[in-house]
Amino acid sequence: MTTDEQLRLDRRLLLLPPTLKDGSVTQDVLRRAGVETAICSDVRGLMAEVHRGAAAVLLPEEAIATASRELAAMLSQQAPWSDLPILVLTRPGADSAEASLAVSALGNVTLLERPVRLATLQSTVRTALRARERQYQIRRQLAELRDADQRKDEFLATLGHELRNPLSPLLTSVELLKLGASSDPNVARAIAVMQRQAGHLVRLVDDLLEVSRITRGLIEVQHEPVELSEIVAAAVETSRPIIEASEHHLNVKMTDEPLFVRGDSVRLTQVFANLLNNAAKYTDPGGTIEVAVRRMRRTAVITVHDNGIGIDRQNLSSVFDMFTQVSRSDRRTQGGLGIGLTLVRSLVALHGGSVTASSEGPGYGSTFEVRLPLEVAQAPSRSATNGHKRFAGRRVLVVDDNQDAIETLQTLLESLGATVAVAGNGREALVQFERFGPDAVLLDIGMPGMDGYEVARRIRALPAGSATPLIAVTGWGQQDDIRRCFEAGFDHHLVKPLDLDKLWEIIVGATPTVN
Ligand code: ADP
Repeated sequence: MTTDEQLRLDRRLLLLPPTLKDGSVTQDVLRRAGVETAICSDVRGLMAEVHRGAAAVLLPEEAIATASRELAAMLSQQAPWSDLPILVLTRPGADSAEASLAVSALGNVTLLERPVRLATLQSTVRTALRARERQYQIRRQLAELRDADQRKDEFLATLGHELRNPLSPLLTSVELLKLGASSDPNVARAIAVMQRQAGHLVRLVDDLLEVSRITRGLIEVQHEPVELSEIVAAAVETSRPIIEASEHHLNVKMTDEPLFVRGDSVRLTQVFANLLNNAAKYTDPGGTIEVAVRRMRRTAVITVHDNGIGIDRQNLSSVFDMFTQVSRSDRRTQGGLGIGLTLVRSLVALHGGSVTASSEGPGYGSTFEVRLPLEVAQAPSRSATNGHKRFAGRRVLVVDDNQDAIETLQTLLESLGATVAVAGNGREALVQFERFGPDAVLLDIGMPGMDGYEVARRIRALPAGSATPLIAVTGWGQQDDIRRCFEAGFDHHLVKPLDLDKLWEIIVGATPTVN
């Protein structure tokens, strides 16, 4: 439909006359007043026409009696800018039940008592159409705002990319200058300044790119089980330089049990590093920062508290908005764009969680509370992980022809920190072995085609496969099976269901720890 056609529809007054004759008389009267009308035969037809576009509706109170609920439901679904004027023709005399129902249920209602004087009808309709015209103006402005917002997002993305391009040769050149090791202390100092400032620019540009990616829905997060104490530890590591530079005291309180959430460890680390950076930045030197993780039923609650400058009540909710800084003149906000908390909120939301800020007011510190849904289905119980039996940094290849077995084992090992690759048959296992370079292989024996014994023999024949621990995972624990396993080149034999402690002994306990 062209814009002109839509405009015509939007200008119509929809009539639902008591009789057809009434309809054509009213239509004539209004046409003379320059009002375009469309006659509807029943409430259903009227609602369909409203959907196509209408400036106002004129209907008798009897129609409301029969269809007030449908009309109210339709009106409740209007766009935020829309408040469709409803003109109701009432019977003469005392207020009827239908009329008062219309007023309370349908919102923007004008009652016209019959018989209506022509001039009254014409002027009431004109007033309604003018009111509607104002609403259309707001609709246009909203659309313009949306366009502008979209252009701003695109501009930020372009700006970010364009700024980043010259930055990387700049940084490389600074590195080159450093290699030249000038004996002049002024030159050395200038190079250090250039490096620091260029690094700062890179961080600003990265934030800008990140936020524009988020607002345009381009960000992708991994969804795998991650353990919160590792996330918090990584965030603390990231923020340590700024915390130490300000000589803040940092307390971290974790839960005794490991808490798993489903998400992206890099992104979640970014969330808490941002909160820690802010806590450090907006607290005078020598302050105290506390991170506490606790469990509330199926939710992990992580708070980052500081005893810094605090936030006044009216700014508490807006600090999460893009480019918001409570006090731009404060030197502490300099060097930032007011993007950090926007990123925090968006990233937490991508993980199905929420974040809130609280503060007793300026001078009384701030607390940011992040809530994340716990991974209920796959989180291993405490006894299963033995509290600390973790596989962090280990690369494990899991081979099984049973997809469910693969998936559960993969989830379990990943939730304990391992990096896992999988293969559903012998041939795939050999390809994955070469490609992935595992620290250990868990091999099912009874597979169609190439069985586990054969896979083990072939891995052992590979240059990289001579020393990798091969663990047979079988349903049988007969002496004979075990002997055959060792002959084929396996180092270990475990029966299903897997004993995690034994597996840990083999993969982690026996080898030097990586971290
Ligand atoms: P930036 O730090 O770059 O200004 P953020 O989005 O991280 O941007 O924070 C927005 C604003 O929220 C900050 O400018 C600051 O005014 C306020 N703010 C954030 N964290 C704290 C905090 N821990 N204590 C006091 N104010 C804070």
